[in-house]
Amino acid sequence: MNGNHDVEPIDPVSQEDACPNCGERESDELVWLDDERVECQRCHTVYRPGAPTPDDEQTGASSA
Ligand SMILES: [Zn+2]
Repeated sequence: MNGNHDVEPIDPVSQEDACPNCGERESDELVWLDDERVECQRCHTVYRPGAPTPDDEQTGASSA
């Protein structure tokens, strides 16, 4: 999975919060843009931590 770096993250976020593109888990490299979006400073992917794979506009709201 993640065999790119030699060093382990100093302050890793949880697995589901990691960058879906490059797998970055170092919280220092993951910058919050707003309340629910994070930008990976390594590959500049913007994603929503904890959200299921963002391939569509699926917000997964099964309750109303
Ligand atoms: Zn990344």
